[in-house]
Amino acid sequence: METGKLELILGTMFGQKTTELILKLKKFEHGSNYEVQLFKPTIDTRYATNEIVTHDGLRMNALNANNASDIVDQINPKTSVIGIDEAPFFDSELIEVIKRLVYDNRKIVIVSGLLYNFRNEFFQFSDGQKDMSDLLALIPDEIVYKKAFCKHNLRTGEDCNQETMMTQRFMPNGTVAPYNDPLIMLGKENITPEEKANLKRTYSPRCREHFKHYDEVLRK
Ligand SMILES: [Zn+2]
Repeated sequence: METGKLELILGTMFGQKTTELILKLKKFEHGSNYEVQLFKPTIDTRYATNEIVTHDGLRMNALNANNASDIVDQINPKTSVIGIDEAPFFDSELIEVIKRLVYDNRKIVIVSGLLYNFRNEFFQFSDGQKDMSDLLALIPDEIVYKKAFCKHNLRTGEDCNQETMMTQRFMPNGTVAPYNDPLIMLGKENITPEEKANLKRTYSPRCREHFKHYDEVLRK
């Protein structure tokens, strides 16, 4: 009998977390008799589709969930393997939901998500109550780190290419975002194109050597 299992896929932006999640789920789909379900947070209902497509073209059917309890409501009793993508975009109730699924219902739960925010602090859940470090308290059976290559441009014109878990955020004018830049840049309704452009942020992986620290920013 299955004893329950928790696997975490923790990574940075551009770290191919979702690809890793889908590959793990497809392995169960093709190699076992276990029923598999994949959930993703409903971030924008206008564009909600019933599948996840990764940057490298991998795709898998996925159920949209508005919050953590919405995941529970949609779980088929026959399902043994549950995938959850973009964990921190759910509310912090997700911690309790995962705990019950693994420890009480003995499901295999595979969770992927960003580990750190642009401040290099643990990524918070959408309600700001808990953060990704709380998943570690559930004693995961396996943790996979998904890093990205540092995109700092060297004087030679090549990228640095050190693997990293850190992501730097940049302002519309290309400068490093200050520490107090809002954590969540929600798409606001009824704003002018200029206001929208001012809200635009870009992200790029940076290794320990090339991540611009906030104390340096503050000294300027
Ligand atoms: Zn670097």
